Amino acid sequence: MCGFVGLIGVEGAAGAAANALQALQHRGQDACGIGTVHRSRVHLVKDLGMVGQVFGGERLGSLPGTAAIGHVRYPTVGAGVREDAQPFHTRRPGVLMAHNGNVTNVPQLEAWLARRGIRVQSGCDVEPIMLVFAEGLRGAAVENVKDAVRDVFDQVRGAYTCAALCEIGGKDTLVAFRDPFGVRPGVYGTDGAGAWCVASESVALDALGFEVLGEIPPGCVMLFAAGEPPRIEPVRAPQPHRCLFERIYFARPDSKMEDGRVFQVRWDLGRRLGEEWRAKGLEADVVVPVPDTSRPAAQAMAETLGLPFREGFIKNRYSGRTFIMPDAATRQSALRLKLNPIPEILEGRRVILVDDSVVRGTTVRRLAELVRSVKPKEVHLAIFSPPVRHPCFYGIDMPSKAELVAARVPEAEWAKTFGVDSVTFLSVEGLRQTTRTPACMACFDGNYPIPVSTDEVAAIVADRRGGGA
Ligand code: SF4
Repeated sequence: MCGFVGLIGVEGAAGAAANALQALQHRGQDACGIGTVHRSRVHLVKDLGMVGQVFGGERLGSLPGTAAIGHVRYPTVGAGVREDAQPFHTRRPGVLMAHNGNVTNVPQLEAWLARRGIRVQSGCDVEPIMLVFAEGLRGAAVENVKDAVRDVFDQVRGAYTCAALCEIGGKDTLVAFRDPFGVRPGVYGTDGAGAWCVASESVALDALGFEVLGEIPPGCVMLFAAGEPPRIEPVRAPQPHRCLFERIYFARPDSKMEDGRVFQVRWDLGRRLGEEWRAKGLEADVVVPVPDTSRPAAQAMAETLGLPFREGFIKNRYSGRTFIMPDAATRQSALRLKLNPIPEILEGRRVILVDDSVVRGTTVRRLAELVRSVKPKEVHLAIFSPPVRHPCFYGIDMPSKAELVAARVPEAEWAKTFGVDSVTFLSVEGLRQTTRTPACMACFDGNYPIPVSTDEVAAIVADRRGGGA
């Protein structure tokens, strides 16, 4: 998972990009980068670390220009080295590009490019996308951009939303495209004075004071030049399957997507979970969220059940999100630092502990241990998504099936495995009925909208092991 921003027509574009990237920091903490275009020259800074670390000093001063591409990275492929940080740049024709997504056929793309004498030099999958795009860009007209994106859609399999800067019709142009399935998010907007912005989430535009105008349509390319209205060019028929895990866990609750504010989606899922929990005939005294993602769902669940909603943990705000830490040992120790239970809320009570999802099961086990350490009467785990039984190949680090606890452990043993009195997952049907967008839910139901071959699966799993993502 990653986050990108693209800007054009903005004075001090690099500074604006850095602010936007800070709003997207939750999408990747491993590395970040900003590239600008000034008088036909590309200026690029990228490094390992978070936005405040990489761009906190003098480095923004070396990035002149009114057009920028920025990126925060969380590696799902590659080794998490500086060379794999985005954006990437190629000359002749000049293209600066960043993306969010996951390419599933990198070896085939490398072979396709090698036949044309082009070599991929990094382990980051935006590089082959950019090289296929640049190879297809046989001129500097809008039609050439459409042809180049058509080549990308024909050659590149997987899920991706991309932002690029290149010169079209003699002008610096911000180009954004999203594959026809629209799995990964992307929005665009304006400051109302001729500047344009594209980004992974609307919160990046909010941070800049830009108005969000809509999503980058799946299967389309958009072109933005400073002071001109944007162009939307359809390239392939859309078959939207938007990632539900963005709504459940990954995106910020204040982000707005095609189907509304993420906060509202989580609220609706919590209400449905409350109905499903009540149908089981269980009883409890208090509903407690696992901070921070679960708060809206826990509030809605409490309201549905007529139970008090209480904060049962204090979160150490200086620790990172455990899911996107690179290895199991780091994730475990980070969780110990992250949450402290409040005995006055939990002791002697029947507690419903609400969390967003269960992937490996290690976090939820540790949470249950933490709650039990302050002697509640009962602990009931309620998850506002279905069990994750299948890996994700579209840009979220959900490991191989063997590491997914819901695929590995029989359902009858889940409560014992997690150390709780009962476990309630939202049903797949409940998720489907609550969702208001054509969706990918492959990690829950195993129906992959974009085909992934056995060879591609093996290559992705091997790359994840090598990369430790
Ligand atoms: S498989 Fe799951 S995590 Fe991956 S894109 Fe689909 S819904 Fe999102």
